[in-house]
Amino acid sequence: MEETPAFYTRNPFLSCRRLTREVSVGGTVMGGGQPVRIQSMANIPTMETEACVRQIIRLAEAGSEYVRVTAPRMEEGRNLAAIKKRLEEEHCHVPIVADVHFTPDVAEVAAEIVEKVRINPGNYTDRKILTEYSEKDYREALEKTADKLVRLLKICQRNGTALRIGVNHGSLSPRIVSRYGDTPLGMAMSAMEFLEICEDYGFRQTVVSMKASNVRIMTESVRLLVAMADAKGWNVPIHLGVTEAGNGAYGRIKSTAGILPLLYDGIGDTIRVSLTEAPENEIPVARLLAGIAEERCHVSPEQGTDTGKIAYDPYRFTRRTGTQCGTFGGGKTVVISGWEGKNPEDLPEAAMAEHPHVTPTGQIPDNAQAIVLETTGDNPPLEMRHFFNRLITQGCSAPVIIRRHYTDTDWNSFAAKATADYASIFIEGWGDGIWICNPNFPQEKIYNLSLQILQACGIRFNQAEYIACPSCGRTQYRIEEALEEIKRRTCHLRNLKIGVMGCIVNGPGEMADADYGFVGCGGGKVSLYKGKQPVYHQVPQEKGIDMLIQLIKENGDWTEPAR
Ligand code: SF4
Repeated sequence: MEETPAFYTRNPFLSCRRLTREVSVGGTVMGGGQPVRIQSMANIPTMETEACVRQIIRLAEAGSEYVRVTAPRMEEGRNLAAIKKRLEEEHCHVPIVADVHFTPDVAEVAAEIVEKVRINPGNYTDRKILTEYSEKDYREALEKTADKLVRLLKICQRNGTALRIGVNHGSLSPRIVSRYGDTPLGMAMSAMEFLEICEDYGFRQTVVSMKASNVRIMTESVRLLVAMADAKGWNVPIHLGVTEAGNGAYGRIKSTAGILPLLYDGIGDTIRVSLTEAPENEIPVARLLAGIAEERCHVSPEQGTDTGKIAYDPYRFTRRTGTQCGTFGGGKTVVISGWEGKNPEDLPEAAMAEHPHVTPTGQIPDNAQAIVLETTGDNPPLEMRHFFNRLITQGCSAPVIIRRHYTDTDWNSFAAKATADYASIFIEGWGDGIWICNPNFPQEKIYNLSLQILQACGIRFNQAEYIACPSCGRTQYRIEEALEEIKRRTCHLRNLKIGVMGCIVNGPGEMADADYGFVGCGGGKVSLYKGKQPVYHQVPQEKGIDMLIQLIKENGDWTEPAR
């Protein structure tokens, strides 16, 4: 394979934080040498001033260093002033970020009031939407976008307001999609166009986020964006998050799989763990991830004089297929080892013992049928990356089972480290087996963690995949309750992706490739989608889940759960 230069990080085998410029958001600076900042988002309607203020204070007290508040219409944009005033009366100085979609005019109002405004480039569209854009159409549409954005930049500059260019997979502009598709490259280009306008104007208080509910798309888009921005010398800080990660243990694992490997690569100045739960629950998870990254990131594994040259494409997922060994390898289902009795397609430890065990810097055995990679160092993702790079360079096609012993006694810390270690490898398309050891926890619990890590990386699906938004002030039904009930009744449908979204404004676009959707449409009602097509409208929440199951049955996608 032709060698690809390591564009998005100075050396993919050394731990080194990307040096970004500082951006001041109120009194709290991000980027540069600042710690990774934690943020969350209020989900109480912005017009309910007092309740919203109380929630912002709770979030600030829990450790949220910035709090985002939705401003869908001019009414909410203006009400931010009332919220800020009440926060000052309560001596709460946490910087507020207005979340604006679809209505650039609201961003201009919010930028006069709050410390930061988040805009979605996908919503800065021209009224004239085309299916195909000639060079001239494209340039003209971009010029109109630039005019609108510069109006906002002037206001931001005057008021000392920071700006987040928040790109989301599933809500790119038709102009971008026509040229690049709804792809990681499209996401990166969408941000780059806006960054260029900011840079040309001389506005440097900019942060960029690239979010997707698919961990691999999120990772690839962030890497691409960083590579492109750094090539231009735009050392813009990055906000990291996985959107619509859902709730409970799986929501935490999916967020970890997206955020922590990038932090290990030194990318990320601020993070949000989005959960379909009370937003206060997001803070301890985010703090845990930031803490683990800080603890491990200064540790660079011993890789001698490695130059950082890589023999794989970090911007495009390709599963390493290699050769087959019995029931695994050769691109077959990734197996789990270490617990016997759960699933016949997995492997007992005894079956693995016969294969050579190799350390990341050890010699790669000739003609091995399979290899057990044992990591013991303090920065396993980088060690393993180095090992697989050697494997690819040397043309070794033996399947690899990745084994690591952990000694953590705290489950959350152990689960986060294991998730990030293994996700770092599986999102590259490497690894044929997962073998996690920790004597402090039951093997069945570790087996279930392994399944969830593989599902979060889109490698092996053990249950239905849920794309569930964290909810915000736009949500007008009981989304947490609905998600729990939908999961209870449909989790056995492991070939399906089901979107559970708070609002009809952003929900249908952002649940992207879901097979079915349960989307709030106001007043306690929902709309039900088959793919991107709405089928039932304005269904009361109470009836919605039965109708969703009926819709799945009508389309032949239902199977009865095993007894
Ligand atoms: S999809 Fe969910 S989080 Fe996004 S704007 Fe709608 S309600 Fe808010």
